[in-house]
Amino acid sequence: MSEATVASLSLESPLIDFYDVNSRVAHRLQQQGIDRIDDLLLQIPICYQDMTRIVPLSALVIGSTVQVQGTITQVKKQYARRPMLLCKIQDKSASLNIRWFHFTANQQVRLQVGQIFRGFGEIRQGRQGLEMVHPQYRVFSPQSFVPVAEHYTPIYPKFEGVSASTLSQLIGKVLDHFYQQLLTIDWLPEAVQTRYQLSNLAEVLEILHRPSPVLSLQQLNERTHPIFKRLIFEELLAHHLGLKQARMNKRYSQAPAIVTRGSLSQRLQDELPFALTQGQQQVLKTIQQDLQNSQPMARLIQGDVGSGKTIVAILAALHAIEAGYQVALMAPTELLAEQHCRVIRNYLSDYDLKIAWLSSSLTKKQRNEQLQAIASHEAAFIIGTHALFQKDVIFHKLGLMIIDEQHRFGVAQRLQLQQKGTDGSPHQLILSATPIPRTLAMTFFADLDVSIIDMLPSGRLPIETILLSSQRKTVLIERIRSIVQKNQQVYWVCPLIEMSEQVAAQAVTQMFTTLKEQLLDCRIGYLHGKMTAVEKEAVMADYQAKKIDILVATTVIEVGIDVPNATLIVLENAERLGLSQLHQLRGRVGRGTQQSYCVLLYHPPISKTAQKRLSVMRDCNDGFEIAKEDLAIRGPGDLLGTEQTGLFRFRLADLSRDYRWLSSVRAAAHYIEQTHPTIIKPLISRWLPRGLDYSLV
Ligand code: ADP
Ligand code: MG
Repeated sequence: MSEATVASLSLESPLIDFYDVNSRVAHRLQQQGIDRIDDLLLQIPICYQDMTRIVPLSALVIGSTVQVQGTITQVKKQYARRPMLLCKIQDKSASLNIRWFHFTANQQVRLQVGQIFRGFGEIRQGRQGLEMVHPQYRVFSPQSFVPVAEHYTPIYPKFEGVSASTLSQLIGKVLDHFYQQLLTIDWLPEAVQTRYQLSNLAEVLEILHRPSPVLSLQQLNERTHPIFKRLIFEELLAHHLGLKQARMNKRYSQAPAIVTRGSLSQRLQDELPFALTQGQQQVLKTIQQDLQNSQPMARLIQGDVGSGKTIVAILAALHAIEAGYQVALMAPTELLAEQHCRVIRNYLSDYDLKIAWLSSSLTKKQRNEQLQAIASHEAAFIIGTHALFQKDVIFHKLGLMIIDEQHRFGVAQRLQLQQKGTDGSPHQLILSATPIPRTLAMTFFADLDVSIIDMLPSGRLPIETILLSSQRKTVLIERIRSIVQKNQQVYWVCPLIEMSEQVAAQAVTQMFTTLKEQLLDCRIGYLHGKMTAVEKEAVMADYQAKKIDILVATTVIEVGIDVPNATLIVLENAERLGLSQLHQLRGRVGRGTQQSYCVLLYHPPISKTAQKRLSVMRDCNDGFEIAKEDLAIRGPGDLLGTEQTGLFRFRLADLSRDYRWLSSVRAAAHYIEQTHPTIIKPLISRWLPRGLDYSLV
């Protein structure tokens, strides 16, 4: 490629056009997500090494990682339990041993007495004095002058087929070549930079890739240096703007305007054994108004566990069905989807409505029958798991999509669902699994409207939470017996913690056997991930029908399961679970009018934070309060479900550390929309070159 063409390149040009990238390297980088020249500049070093100075051998500190240099005075093979290579070096002040446990013949040839050795590594205390094991090193003759590095050495994430030094050199060349242009890509308005004290981007990139040795290495490595604030802020901003954009796009798309008299919904309300709470009524009314618009609704319903979100969703569904549309309801686990199916079939048994069911455990024949019913509109209400996402699921006239326990699904899936509409996008109703504090919700669900059901149905008694050392487990047996005698039911949960489903299944079956021996007159069942869908469903149905008194289970029952007659839940290893998960599990009881109990079993001794968590659980029943505490203790990962879904995978930002900036990020986004709308697109594409499809980021 000629120099002239190169001069016309911009930072947004494909990397492959940059003259110094031979196409093999460019191709490999491209495969790993680096398409454009500026993508390269946003490669964030994992850490930095100081190879700018040489530390005298007399000044070495055990445990430090440093660069040393000296004349080789001795090289020999040693045989302890295995062969090793030992090399002694010396400078004016002292000497140091260098040791290798793996070495090659070639290496021995190069390490000649009298040559100069320069190495970088950690200083350890060896048997024969200080030593460095397996350093990075080079050897040169005493006559040659080899300069030390001018700046700290950034260590980049590994890219397959591209060496660290190739990547480093390439980034250096880009920085040199585009120096002037870097000044023009700092799109953040000055007001934003000043207000939030964000450094200038050209300077930030220069420091990021070639930090001067006068800077603090520690600040760089701990990412507390101000350059990181700029990058993190910009990344959060780009994600937030991306979500807002997704919402704007939705506004431009068409949805069916669903206008009905609401007779079906009213009929079911009249038939319910309870009256809706005011909170439920309010939210239902809002949804009804949303549905009448020809812009797609995108509404998140937040509410504490047990606040009755499901019935609101079902009533909303009846509006769409009455207007002649299909409704899809999706749940994150088969168990929950099946429960919804059972409940809805039960409610609507006299409504002359076909309900279809889709899950991955259907046989091919069953599946085809269901698909047929969906495509022909014979089925109006379609319930299922992720199976609803699949390509071959074709709706005849989808008007409303309901997603239950939202935090188990990622943004990508949320967006994917929109494609399922036949004339435009369907309306979307999303039920949250976990209450989320306002700032978080507003930043991370910026593509959604949020409604809150802020009360529980009347007559509910607060769950009483008891902390119990696992050494005193036996006192529980009598408690369980008395509960069963009152015809109430019990969950015993053995959580899955950093161990395989297999081990969790064993824990469940063991506890099942133990309880069986001690509670001879109780009917006990068990449930774990290793059972087939059919087995699980049969057990759950028995539990629901009160044919089982005590259910020993893994956390498969964590979300959504609703058996109001269950009044005691025992959570083993409670000290190892996060607050939100504990609250979610506890929410399996306290769903009826009986007094319910939650026993948190812990193995002493427990850490301070675990103690804090458990006492928060004991003292507080309010999900929103607990979420606030969880945020303070653990950051928002657990709340947002980032672990499960890969939701918001950032290059640099770490929500547990950076969530305090979220309100500033929101304010900055608002300002930019008002004053600098043209920078929104480039900002988003700089950080999310492949769009909001987080599964690819
Ligand atoms: P969640 O909001 O956790 O999903 P559910 O929708 O599963 O809660 O509802 C919990 C239980 O409360 C269910 O058994 C449901 O039938 C019942 N329920 C819902 N609304 C009311 C109400 N207004 N009054 C009494 N019980 C209700
Ligand atoms: Mg629910």
